[in-house]
Amino acid sequence: MIIGIAKEIKNNENRVALPPSGVFDLVSQGHQVHVETQAGAGSAIPDEEYAEAGATIVPDASSVWAADMVMKVKEPLPEEYRYFRKDLLLFTYLHLAANKPLTEALVKSGVNAIAYENVQPADHSLPLLAPMSEIAGRMASQIGANYLERVNGGKGILLSGVPGVRRGNVVVIGGGVVGANAASIAIGLGANVTILDVSVPRLKELDVMFGNSIQTMLSNRYNIQEALKTADLVVGAVLIPGHKAPTLVTKEMVKGMPDHSVIVDVAIDQGGIFETVDKVTTHDDPTYVKEGVVHYAVANMPGAVPQTATYALSNSTLAYASLLANHPLDEVLKNNLALRRGVNTFSGHLTLEAVAKDLEMPH
Ligand code: NAD
Repeated sequence: MIIGIAKEIKNNENRVALPPSGVFDLVSQGHQVHVETQAGAGSAIPDEEYAEAGATIVPDASSVWAADMVMKVKEPLPEEYRYFRKDLLLFTYLHLAANKPLTEALVKSGVNAIAYENVQPADHSLPLLAPMSEIAGRMASQIGANYLERVNGGKGILLSGVPGVRRGNVVVIGGGVVGANAASIAIGLGANVTILDVSVPRLKELDVMFGNSIQTMLSNRYNIQEALKTADLVVGAVLIPGHKAPTLVTKEMVKGMPDHSVIVDVAIDQGGIFETVDKVTTHDDPTYVKEGVVHYAVANMPGAVPQTATYALSNSTLAYASLLANHPLDEVLKNNLALRRGVNTFSGHLTLEAVAKDLEMPH
């Protein structure tokens, strides 16, 4: 099979779907890998390194999209829709529940699209979302701490405090992979950390993981409202797989937060959990102020740390890419539950029920 590795074109998206080690593996298995020139530049991987690993360097997007399977990091942007075609296999993050135009373009063109974030084995884990969630969660506390500085628009609070002066309060809504990683860094920075989740079993796990370093609370409207009143930094980290994120924090709740507090809505890629987060921001212009609170809503946070994220992503995607490359698609989807669950569009049909429901589209 010919596998195409496209250059990412989203704002400040510096990751690439596979590093040379992944190319080497696929070529060793008898495939041809076409890498778009400069695809690895943002991750400090020159074309020559790909060529040494066995890749063919192709000059432009249209050449790379001619492959049998295209691997990307972020969802295709409108200028890439022209490359969609029947029988193309697309393996990337998609987040369709928050993107009707892309869903329609994939269905209309007949692309078979498997979304990393929906690949789910029998244990219901999300192995291809987890590595980026680990990164985005860790970044959320680091970024939040930065924006809490007065010079960056925040309250002017050091999360650790100092002897005799209070620590900062970090509230994490959603205690999954993003939430636990955000908590771990916030604890490391010396903050008071509260995690809210709807799952009591998950709260128990978090209690075992972090002991007395965190406060856990059941996530409901009342508890969220109470926790936000004293929050300096709030991290949105909720996921209901396949669905648009629920709005859990209302405009009134944000109004109730002290001025110059900071919100980092990591769940923005699924639409976000704050009513006041009504636009996705970019690494070029990552924040805006609403109701006196600094909002950060970048949907591709790991794109800022490509020399970590490229490798973390491919550590998890490569085994699945090999399966897709080594077997006919029908067979691999029949035999592999995780990949079957990841199919979002197939032969002109929207196959993921959650997306169809959220976008009010047939499936
Ligand atoms: P996860 O499945 O590991 O965790 C989600 C958690 O949310 C679960 O523990 C679940 O119980 C909890 N939850 C569900 N409903 C809730 C509610 N009403 N209140 C509180 N908690 C609730 O998911 P994850 O991997 O941590 O991902 C979280 C979000 O972050 C996803 O939308 C993911 O796509 C996104 N993400 C964004 C970026 C970015 O760059 N912005 C990067 C990686 C991941």
